[in-house]
Amino acid sequence: MSSLVSSPAKYGRLKNFINGAFTVSSAARHLSVVSPLDGTPLADMPCSTPADLDAAVAAARAAFPGWSRTPVKERVQVFFRYKYLLERDKEELTALVSEENGKTREEALAEVEKCIELTEFATSLPQLIAGEVLEVSRGVECRTERVPLGVVASIVPFNFPAMVPNWTTPNALALGNCMIIKPSEKVPLSCGRLALLLKEAGLPDGVFNIVNGESEIVNAICDHPGIDAVSFVGSTRVAKMVYQRATQHLKRCLALGGAKNHLLVLPDAQPEMTARDVVVSMSGCAGQRCMAASAMLAVGPTDAIIERICEEARRVVPGKNLGAVINREAKERIETYITQAEQQGAKVLVDGRGYVVAGKENGTYVGPTVIDHVTPDMAVAREEIFGPVISIMRVATLDEALAIENANPYGNAASVYTRNGGMARQVIERASAGMVGVNVGVPVPREPFSFGGWNESRFGVGDITGKSSIEFWTRLKKSTVKWNAEAGVNWMS
Ligand code: NAD
Repeated sequence: MSSLVSSPAKYGRLKNFINGAFTVSSAARHLSVVSPLDGTPLADMPCSTPADLDAAVAAARAAFPGWSRTPVKERVQVFFRYKYLLERDKEELTALVSEENGKTREEALAEVEKCIELTEFATSLPQLIAGEVLEVSRGVECRTERVPLGVVASIVPFNFPAMVPNWTTPNALALGNCMIIKPSEKVPLSCGRLALLLKEAGLPDGVFNIVNGESEIVNAICDHPGIDAVSFVGSTRVAKMVYQRATQHLKRCLALGGAKNHLLVLPDAQPEMTARDVVVSMSGCAGQRCMAASAMLAVGPTDAIIERICEEARRVVPGKNLGAVINREAKERIETYITQAEQQGAKVLVDGRGYVVAGKENGTYVGPTVIDHVTPDMAVAREEIFGPVISIMRVATLDEALAIENANPYGNAASVYTRNGGMARQVIERASAGMVGVNVGVPVPREPFSFGGWNESRFGVGDITGKSSIEFWTRLKKSTVKWNAEAGVNWMS
């Protein structure tokens, strides 16, 4: 890690990554990056200035002509090598993701494995972007080809320090764009490691650049005339601001926001599987997944399943098989939600408040929490909590459950637990969410299927990964060609 930093303390003072080299920021201010696992100070992150962004954009613009003219089959060779390097350094990356984000080693490993899968998809892009050609009138051909946009930006959140950067980077770059990425100020370390791997894989200097910072850099990205497109992943509040600001500057923008995902549990659901999946979905990554189950709609007689859910939840222990939440502020926010629900009459069946892990007193842990008898008007029923908490609402019918799910402004995921195919089909059809599961608690579509929610979970057109992302990262060139004069004049000439 020494090349990432310039000072001795753990990882020291971070640099930006511009034109293939770690570069000192002109920042006057730095933020501390702290491990949520135990409070260890990890690094000082520069709040970069617009001048730092200018330098990154200049490097990316300079690299663009050469990179975009490199044939796609050559460009993807970098990602075959990058995939190998991710595999080679899997353990090191896993440790870093866990250390800066607070997730368990197993969760961090799964994240790195997902990075590998995303990269595999990028290597298949030559097959997917082959254009079309047709003789449209005698001697005249039309053909289409996918052309990169130019310099694009990727603004990412804290909850997947390696995976979300890999949602955008391999596809955008393999398709011929150059990129500026702005990591989350809470977890900037993994991104720097990815930059080193991309360089080792043979990516030309300037194609991939990192500018660390917070909102000032995000605003500067939206405003910058040298940036052609902006992708954003984070909370809905910021997604809306970024979408409005970037499109006001006539940039293409795709902004993924927050979520409130509903699990509908029907009385015929298989109890063991349902209980296990509900707990894994709500507590995995300490509930800090935009696909985590946050609200459960218990339809009809489901007491026995709820009891099992509580038993499963009690087996999830912070510091052992449950990681930390990102910081003290998050811990307080989550615990306040639980307390408010209790004060409003909900019943806390399993209580994760006030958790301290022995030996890691400076870590920020919240235990798994099951809240029953929540009503749809409570904040825990409506808002994203982003912690290991499930809010159970009791309803009498599937219609009632779907009405609650549909009324929520978000729309990332919804899942149903049932053995009845007809009921499951109704949920697939009627849930107002971009990603739906049947007996799957975290219905993330795997590559080549694309990832993207609906409603206030996504602003812009299309999805961020998979085949759908090709549309976002490229534009279509249509050419109409005549070589022989004998083809004559046609109706459009
Ligand atoms: P966040 O919105 O606070 O931050 C995301 C990015 O925006 C960061 O890089 C941050 O520096 C920047 N930012 C923060 N405040 C800003 C402001 N006022 N102006 C401009 N930029 C600003 O999100 P987070 O806390 O890092 O991540 C958690 C959120 O991300 C949750 O809401 C989660 O649901 C969401 N998320 C969504 C998806 C999805 O696919 N829809 C995936 C992962 C995370």
